[in-house]
Amino acid sequence: MQSKALFLDRDGVINEDLGYVHRAEQCVFVDGIFELVRSANAAGYIVAVVTNQAGIARGLYTDAQFHDFMRWMQGQFALNGASLDHVYYCPHHPQAGKGVLRQTCICRKPEPGMLKHACVELNLDMKASILVGDKESDIEAARRAGVGRTFLIGENDAVSLGTVQQAL
Ligand SMILES: [Mg+2]
Ligand SMILES: [Zn+2]
Repeated sequence: MQSKALFLDRDGVINEDLGYVHRAEQCVFVDGIFELVRSANAAGYIVAVVTNQAGIARGLYTDAQFHDFMRWMQGQFALNGASLDHVYYCPHHPQAGKGVLRQTCICRKPEPGMLKHACVELNLDMKASILVGDKESDIEAARRAGVGRTFLIGENDAVSLGTVQQAL
């Protein structure tokens, strides 16, 4: 049987987007994120992060540092009774990337590659899935991958994580 997923952009959705966040001390969790993920877990959604990480392409931090930070983040969710089940990321940038990371890839949002990969890997019903983003490029990626519902959150927007939680 197919599962449904709650896809979360990371910067600006899980943690405040302070720019190239990659260490625990730079991480400020967005209000309501633990509650949202707990509710999604309880409602049977697989929770998956889908994040562009051009900081890796730019050489600002390494792949290993990214993974260390994400393990720490998943640990913080666990401490709050929530499970961030999967992490998908794009380490590329079409202009600023160094070496092989400089490429026009199929994963950097608004390309739908990360979502399509998750769909196959996790056997997802995309129509029953949800994506939360803070940029139009997040929403476009979701649309192109056939995600059923999308939420664009942001400070100038009436939509909050609480809105998403109520819609689960
Ligand atoms: Mg973002
Ligand atoms: Zn990529």
